[in-house]
Amino acid sequence: MQSSTNIRFKNYTQQQLSLLPPSLEELIEENHPVRVINQVIDRLDLQPLIKKYKGGGTSSYHPRMMLKVLVYAYVNNIYSSRKIEAAIKENIHFMWLAAFNRPDHNTINRFRSDRLKGVFKEIFTQVVMMLVESGHIDLQKVYLDGTKIEANANKYTFVWSKSVQRYKNGIKKQLEELWQYAESVAKEELSMEKPIDFEKLDAKKIENTIETINNALKDKPIDKKKQKLNYAKKNWARNYEKYQEQEEILGERNSYSKTDTDATFMRMKDDHMKNGQLKAGYNFQISTSNQYVVNYTNHHNPTDTKTLIPHLEEFNKQFQTLPKELTADAGYGSEENYEYLENKEIEAYVKYNYFHMEQHKKRKATPDFHQDKLYYNEQEDYYVCPMGQRMHKIGIRKTTNENGFTQELHLYQAQNCNACPLRGMCHKSKKNRIIQVNHKLKRYKAKAKNLLLSEKGKEHRSQRPVDVEAVFGNIKQNKKFTRLNLRGNEKVEIEIGLVYLSHNLLKYARTA
Ligand code: SF4
Repeated sequence: MQSSTNIRFKNYTQQQLSLLPPSLEELIEENHPVRVINQVIDRLDLQPLIKKYKGGGTSSYHPRMMLKVLVYAYVNNIYSSRKIEAAIKENIHFMWLAAFNRPDHNTINRFRSDRLKGVFKEIFTQVVMMLVESGHIDLQKVYLDGTKIEANANKYTFVWSKSVQRYKNGIKKQLEELWQYAESVAKEELSMEKPIDFEKLDAKKIENTIETINNALKDKPIDKKKQKLNYAKKNWARNYEKYQEQEEILGERNSYSKTDTDATFMRMKDDHMKNGQLKAGYNFQISTSNQYVVNYTNHHNPTDTKTLIPHLEEFNKQFQTLPKELTADAGYGSEENYEYLENKEIEAYVKYNYFHMEQHKKRKATPDFHQDKLYYNEQEDYYVCPMGQRMHKIGIRKTTNENGFTQELHLYQAQNCNACPLRGMCHKSKKNRIIQVNHKLKRYKAKAKNLLLSEKGKEHRSQRPVDVEAVFGNIKQNKKFTRLNLRGNEKVEIEIGLVYLSHNLLKYARTA
């Protein structure tokens, strides 16, 4: 048996006094990421942020210290202001960054939500430019993709544009019916009133109209309408005003959440319940280079197609230049986007629908009556159908989307499909077959296909998931950032910007 006299412990004296107090500087490892983050933020020009302080009153915590603490908190997946406050008191890295300052959670929150408003993007761009100068980022070649992040909003507090419209129309219709009824029983009393335009209603007009009806029916025996009139008097004007306010908040959106009115209901990828439930969220688009986030934008539109142009406009605003090469998946392959990219002389390695299917050998072998397979005579502008009939042009149909972009669809029709043996496989229309061809889009697709199948295109296609999708993976899986903590466009843009900045700085710190 071992003698207890052989056991030796290291010295443990909690109350031991030191001649000199230990320095935090000595306690932090030389190559620790906190030092890199500290150095990078020390090099930033924070004048725009400093200008946001009005002066006077009590002294403020230094914005450089606050920014370091906040960014380092995001690097460590600490997103709650109370947890940041705790870290400043407990963690030597935070103590070192804060130089023993101890801002509380309210101060941290005010700095994040208000002080950084309108200036954070500039700070982010400065860091990107540093990374460009050090050769970590190439602004010429970028990869674009988007992800939806759940808002800090209740799932069940939705307002739908269609419902608002329906309720408004309901009030209009019932008011009109009530007016007609009043006219039928109190024609004389209403004979002096001006005719009412029920298409142009507002709360005041509704209130006045109900008042007029009420006065006209005052002495009439109208038991069955009395209850409705009382309800209308109490509710309709107020409700109509509420629906108008909701319409204003909605803007061009289909929905919003009452707890975060800037959040829109959209289908999220990570649908754990697998029930396709829509959740309030934001669609964030990023462009990346070498897995660093170069630019980020926030969109209400759940579809990626409409986000490419505003994203690149923001890119241009931040860097006064546009990339030379852009790679994106099929979600961005629209005529409007291809045209924009061509006009801006950006090589578009952007897939379109069916690009992958086209590359599939089996699909190539299947007989197809699709218009893409039909012979087209460009000089004389006609198609030839599978039976060899000429399909002559019968017109052009123009459609304009909400951005004002106009598409032209050229219509070609076969001359006689009656008794054609191929009809069952060719088309289902009762008339002679008509095809709608978008020549411009076809040209853009052919150009994109050439680029995508080139050697450079193959490289970009294999790099895209590694470059941009890996960033989303890191943010959602490693950084556990799957739900926003702040509400409203401006605040969520700061928050997501902090997430991307912390991603960039940690990646840089690991390579520095
Ligand atoms: S159905 Fe009409 S369009 Fe189709 S192959 Fe026959 S003739 Fe041509």
